[in-house]
Amino acid sequence: MKIHEYQAKALLKPYGVAVPKHRPVFKPEEAERATQQLIEDDGNPIVVVKAQIHAGGRGKGRFKEDPELGGVQIVRGAAEAGRMAERMLGRTLVTIQTGPEGQAVNRLLVEQGVDIDREFYIGALLDRAAERICVMACAEGGVEIEEVAARTPEKILKEWVDPVVGLAGYQARKLAIGLGLSGPALKNAVKVLIGLATAFDKEDCSLAEINPLVVTKTGAVLALDAKITLDDNALYRHPNWADLHDAAEEEPAELEAQAYNLSYVKLDGTIGCMVNGAGLAMGTMDIIKAFGGEPANFLDVGGGADKDRVAAAFKIILADPNVKGIFVNIFGGIVHCDLVAQGIVDAVKEVGLQLPLVVRLEGTNVEAGKKILASSGLNLTPAEDMADGARKVVELAR
Ligand code: ADP
Ligand code: MG
Repeated sequence: MKIHEYQAKALLKPYGVAVPKHRPVFKPEEAERATQQLIEDDGNPIVVVKAQIHAGGRGKGRFKEDPELGGVQIVRGAAEAGRMAERMLGRTLVTIQTGPEGQAVNRLLVEQGVDIDREFYIGALLDRAAERICVMACAEGGVEIEEVAARTPEKILKEWVDPVVGLAGYQARKLAIGLGLSGPALKNAVKVLIGLATAFDKEDCSLAEINPLVVTKTGAVLALDAKITLDDNALYRHPNWADLHDAAEEEPAELEAQAYNLSYVKLDGTIGCMVNGAGLAMGTMDIIKAFGGEPANFLDVGGGADKDRVAAAFKIILADPNVKGIFVNIFGGIVHCDLVAQGIVDAVKEVGLQLPLVVRLEGTNVEAGKKILASSGLNLTPAEDMADGARKVVELAR
């Protein structure tokens, strides 16, 4: 689960990651008031108004309706902050990470303007090969870190965290010295690096990035941006994560699928897949590719697939305009093939179907299931086995 910049900053701050004073706002009046308060706090009239979406590249991004305007704007004074908020809220921001359709901006962050001396990148992720958290630092901050990693990977410094002792002081110092820091800035950066590594572990992150981490003229070290992905597997340990969830940022079909307890991930291909079991779903996607097709989704209807879930799954697949054919691949273990077949027939009658549909059933009560499909009068193509089904659906979808 991804969270917004202001939520990530709130999560990191208690661990010693210094951030500029900021306030999330939802309305232009709130932006004006928040700016007023920030100015009263430290006398600096310069604030930054930042679009809160789950995508990076906001500074260089542009609003669809207002192509002059980017997602990170420096303004002076409360009135100007209010006007800026008016221009951004409810509009669609397109960045390198949102895709051409962009993302609606419903929240803003109003933040103290910081007098930046130097910008760096720091981040932490789980290195599965090393079985450790890896903390990274790079002197080329503010830019696309992916580009640096591709072109000049040696510029990204890395330290692996011992799970017992955490990121050691000497490791944090090595990274900070590697960034070219010294004096108070070095000491402050060490604190931030250790804070980031500790927060990553304690808060069950799967990715945490600060880009840019900045050093000011006075040697303060601040996180100006923060991007965190939380590890969904740890949800049970964090009941408060429900408050951090922003449904507006998610694929609508994936939310719909969650409501029916289906695991669904939208992909870019043309073959809609409906499968029971995650392993079989992965195998189905592979075999579709092997026959020259591209799956439009991963969809696991689960073990207890009843008629309602099958119908919901069909609706979700059909809502994707890229889908040109559907492959239902069900292994009846706990669930019986005749019940699934009836679910398919009922669902198709309910939602209608213009596309080719290939069905492969195997397992408990398979003969009864095949009979139901054959006598349903529906225009569907039965498959003998997985390979047969994949070959047929790829052909029919062409
Ligand atoms: P994104 O990575 O989505 O473009 P950032 O939060 O990194 O968004 O902001 C982009 C750039 O805007 C930063 O690299 C920094 O130069 C500038 N910036 C962001 N926040 C502030 C701030 N509070 N004060 C001054 N400059 C800022
Ligand atoms: Mg950034």
